[in-house]
Amino acid sequence: MEVAPVSEPAPELSVVIPVFNEGENVDTLVERLAPILDAVAASWEVVFVDDGSRDDTLARIRRLNETDPRLRAVSFSRNFGKEIAIAGGLDHARGQATVIMDADLQHPPEMIATFVEKWREGYAMVYGQRTDRRADGPVRRWLTRAFYRLFAAFGETPLPEGAGDFRLLDRRAVEALRQMGERARFSKGLYAWIGFPSIGVPFEVAERVSGTSKFNARKLFRFAFDGITSFSTLPLKLWTYVGALVSAFSFVTGLWFIVRTLVWGVDVPGYASLIVSVMFLAGVQLVSLGVIGEYIGRIFAEVKRRPLYIVGEQVGFEENPPVALP
Ligand code: UDP
Ligand code: MG
Repeated sequence: MEVAPVSEPAPELSVVIPVFNEGENVDTLVERLAPILDAVAASWEVVFVDDGSRDDTLARIRRLNETDPRLRAVSFSRNFGKEIAIAGGLDHARGQATVIMDADLQHPPEMIATFVEKWREGYAMVYGQRTDRRADGPVRRWLTRAFYRLFAAFGETPLPEGAGDFRLLDRRAVEALRQMGERARFSKGLYAWIGFPSIGVPFEVAERVSGTSKFNARKLFRFAFDGITSFSTLPLKLWTYVGALVSAFSFVTGLWFIVRTLVWGVDVPGYASLIVSVMFLAGVQLVSLGVIGEYIGRIFAEVKRRPLYIVGEQVGFEENPPVALP
């Protein structure tokens, strides 16, 4: 990924904030965040990742940058989604440690002090752990729980309970994440996959200050699917067992029919059972094909090797001289 250099030396702490139509929130956020950063870090920067906002988010950040050059922004050419925005932010953050947080103040900035404290104790990763999910609706809460169960059953990487994107990563962890160029990104899984000494700090998710969640049910389902398919091949292998089971069953019923014909003679009825078994098998086959299709779709997306994101504009970074990274 190309990164424009910044003339000042790298700060101690970077804060990466993905923003998508958060014009109403950025000023309040900076007002609360800046004094905390002043208190906990020797030097800092904020890297907003404008994920193709269509409101005045970028204009407001530009204004903020004029008063404080430590507030920077990378603006994507369109909406690429939060996961990719985080990846873009990590590409541009230069701090010894990097904090990732949401723009809607659901992640209390005060927690950063604790994160930094733990980091200084030697942890490479410090993550916020949600103690309750009251801020989400009951349906979303239920589905979230179902997803975590499924992930635990299917996934090869165990996810810590309640850990989200609100976290601090040290340089090593950031570089490790930057090496993972996968397109269907499931950050929660990636954080767990890279390892390093990590610790969770419980926190309570606040209500959104203004605006509504940018994730609808469709996006969340897509995200859940990406999560499972990027961290498990079990959905692919499952069909071997289903196939074996169905074959065993048909073998037994076949035997039964032979015995019955020999003992009681031929009878014609059986239309209903025939149709039902044909439809059942057609269903099983189509679902298994669909699962294979999901994985092939992902392979296709990966082999195209498109860049993860396209930067439209940068605020607070030096103009033009893009530097190729190793
Ligand atoms: N976000 C983003 N791109 C998107 C959707 C969301 O950058 O396509 C950002 C959003 O601006 C916010 C963060 O991701 O800073 C979390 O989004 P949101 O609060 O809508 O999610 P929720 O809290 O409901 O999980
Ligand atoms: Mg939110």
